[in-house]
Amino acid sequence: MKKKKTINIIHNLNNYSLEIAQELKEALAVYDFHLPSVYDPHADLNISVGGDGSFLRSLRYNQFPEIPIIGINTGNLGFYPELSPADIPNFTKEYINGHYTINQIPLLQCEICSENKIHTVYALNDIALKGDQTKTIHLDVFIDYNHLETVSGDGIIVSTPMGSSAYNYSAGGSLVYPSLNTLQVTPIAPLNSNAYRCLSSSVIVPPELHIVIVPEYKYIEKVVFSLDGEQVNFDKVTHANFSLSDKCINMLSLGTFNYWKVIKEKFL
Ligand code: NAP
Ligand code: MN
Repeated sequence: MKKKKTINIIHNLNNYSLEIAQELKEALAVYDFHLPSVYDPHADLNISVGGDGSFLRSLRYNQFPEIPIIGINTGNLGFYPELSPADIPNFTKEYINGHYTINQIPLLQCEICSENKIHTVYALNDIALKGDQTKTIHLDVFIDYNHLETVSGDGIIVSTPMGSSAYNYSAGGSLVYPSLNTLQVTPIAPLNSNAYRCLSSSVIVPPELHIVIVPEYKYIEKVVFSLDGEQVNFDKVTHANFSLSDKCINMLSLGTFNYWKVIKEKFL
């Protein structure tokens, strides 16, 4: 007998998401899928019901699993979720018939180094370094072991192509097409004066070049990290090494995701 496929439905707790998650369960139940009530790390598919925030958290809270993932948008923007609630009947049919592709999306990796520890963290969109107070923070940026600039301001965002339309875009960075393997380093409200000077635009770096950010000594205890929007504090960070990871997520697609269409629809 063929083993039942297991699908995790991961949703936020908004009324609308709860309603759509229930609708999805009923649509899938017709086809005899196993829908566990507790997250199954060996499932065949993860479906996120919510917006981008829910999509990002469903990955972070489950350690960026290799299980293919697709989203149903019940959120505000919904850049990641390819489906809308109206697509549920078509999605179940296409999934059963194997009419989908799986696209590997590499993660941003960061080694956060303190005097005696290295924490390795991942993000799909971006990692931002900011001051934990309202004061200016000073960050040295090294690319390929060359000192490029010192950014003085609110902080720095390192983003992936898929994340380039999020915080990076608000900070004046460029949109980067998802198939390009690059990382973008973008200052947040940098000072540019005769006292402080840095590049007035972001820089886009190929994946083989290491990006290292070093907080100025007196700010070491005051740097906070935001991993896909979630604040994490680390003690006495000496430097942070960024790279494009070998670790990927697997985005399931019905082939209906069109980057330029999404940008036009969601941003203009
Ligand atoms: P949030 O504060 O609700 O996110 C801000 C907005 O960004 C939401 O509308 C969200 O979509 C959207 N978004 C997330 N990822 C996106 C992407 N790749 N492309 C286009 N838009 C995207 O927090 P959140 O929903 O947990 O998302 C976390 C992300 O927020 C972080 O990774 C960071 O990029 C971004 N952020 C932006 C700012 C800013 O623009 N000033 C400040 C802090 C964080 P939904 O409405 O569908 O959730
Ligand atoms: Mn959100």
